[in-house]
Amino acid sequence: MPASAPQRTTPRTRHDKPYRRVLLKISGESFCKPGSFGIDPDELGSIANEIKGAKATGVQLAVVVGGGNIIRGAELAASGHIEQATADHMGMLGTVINALALKEKLLSLGVDCRVQSALEIRAVAEPFIRGRALRHLEKGRVVILAAGTGNPFFTTDTAAVLRAIEVGAEVI
Ligand code: UDP
Repeated sequence: MPASAPQRTTPRTRHDKPYRRVLLKISGESFCKPGSFGIDPDELGSIANEIKGAKATGVQLAVVVGGGNIIRGAELAASGHIEQATADHMGMLGTVINALALKEKLLSLGVDCRVQSALEIRAVAEPFIRGRALRHLEKGRVVILAAGTGNPFFTTDTAAVLRAIEVGAEVI
């Protein structure tokens, strides 16, 4: 899916250069076994290994992580006990949990990476700063983008598109 205004009018062919910068969106469900919740170590390992393989091709990689394996704000709010804005904040914090897990696994595989969060949680992650994210990417670090857009009533799919445009990714 193109990340920004359509610049390409013809389909990519095998003669084209590979992508230089890619944004990968990982749904929260990828972190757990189908129909389950939380973080499954095997699934975490397989995501991290795929990222390591992608990095080995030389591509710059930004990763937006979802949080549906932990909390989906709209579903939680539907119970009637928690307002959606708060439930969405909880959902965004869930994405931070996934991001931290992914960071640890990637580091253990020797993949340099940083977590940036759209919600400020200075003790655990850098804030999302576009210029700093770009520098990490240029240095070959995987940048894991947590907390979606930082705003309730959005999803991490929106965040993926927004961040892809912001960091100049050629494809999501
Ligand atoms: N969320 C939000 N704002 C955002 C991104 C996410 O409020 O910009 C909340 C929302 O509650 C959402 C939850 O975080 O349900 C988890 O994100 P999402 O559902 O997109 O995760 P995925 O479906 O990709 O696992």
